[in-house]
Amino acid sequence: MGEALRDGFGRVHRSLRVSVTDRCNLRCRYCMPAEGMEWIPRADLLTDDEIARLVRLFASMGIAAVRVTGGEPLVRPGLAGLVRRMAGTPGIAEVSLTTNGVLLADAIDDLVAAGLARVNVSIDSLDPERFARITRRDDLGRALAGLAACERHPGLAPLKVNAVAMRGVSEPDVLPLAEAARTRPWIVRFIEVMPLDAPREWTRDLVLSGGELRAMIGARWPLVPAAPTRASATGTRWRFADGAGEMEFVASVTEPFCATCDRLRLTADGRLRTCLFAEEETDLLGPMRAGAGDGELAAIARAAVARKGPGHGMADPAWTYAGRPMSRIGG
Ligand code: SAM
Ligand code: SF4
Repeated sequence: MGEALRDGFGRVHRSLRVSVTDRCNLRCRYCMPAEGMEWIPRADLLTDDEIARLVRLFASMGIAAVRVTGGEPLVRPGLAGLVRRMAGTPGIAEVSLTTNGVLLADAIDDLVAAGLARVNVSIDSLDPERFARITRRDDLGRALAGLAACERHPGLAPLKVNAVAMRGVSEPDVLPLAEAARTRPWIVRFIEVMPLDAPREWTRDLVLSGGELRAMIGARWPLVPAAPTRASATGTRWRFADGAGEMEFVASVTEPFCATCDRLRLTADGRLRTCLFAEEETDLLGPMRAGAGDGELAAIARAAVARKGPGHGMADPAWTYAGRPMSRIGG
């Protein structure tokens, strides 16, 4: 195996998020505009062979976990075949998926057979009308059917449900989602809304913080902190004091976890990003299509990781972000 991907701050990178498309069948308000989203030209999207090659290359440098994301990964044709290739790559111990769940019910059996190990389904509201208002599509029933289909695969446990929290929007959804964490076999994770929306409408006031969410839920059902499962985890774990279940809070804005970050991101058009918020990205597609060998691509990736900054700096009120929106990076 090649040398590990270590940055200038000693962080060793083990996890790669691969965006397999920037397209999506929903239009969540905190992610995409209602209309007029500009898509990456199809010719610039990585092919299955190119993704498989890059996963192999990263695995040879110590990447052990791949999370498939997007856009909506399930709109990419042939995803199970790609997952099979990723899962069969020497060194890759786990392939997971982040999805809105809408197309999941029909896809999950093939994905599990292909080696998919974990699923996160993004559902911001359990109320159909509120779900439709947030995602601009009336698809809660299909997303829940996707989750139910996952529950039939015990090997996928624990199932995680991602919910983005926004002040003035999400408050009515907080307790119903917390209740679901108590009654369903799901770990519900609240995520602070980040300035990664394509319409650029994010403001700091919109952030309903992890601390506020914990207080809202804890007042109804007391929560106690639980030990992290991994040092590099993005969410802090909390258990209900009565033992009824578990929740996570991904407080990227108010409680950044950059110091333990072990993640890299590959965009659907073959750019390597060392941070969700870095404006710098490193082209791998261009050199690959120009005939670069694995050694050359590995050197480009290593140099990019070596330049990774210490953190996103969002705590500074003067901080702004002008880079790509989340759907083009791969959340
Ligand atoms: N379409 C899939 C989905 O929604 O799960 C995968 C891609 S989506 C970009 C990945 C995750 O990022 C989702 O859980 C989504 O809710 C979250 N997300 C999108 N925009 C966000 C934002 N501005 N702030 C925080 N989380 C965001
Ligand atoms: Fe699509 Fe996921 Fe973005 Fe929602 S958050 S618009 S489901 S990519």
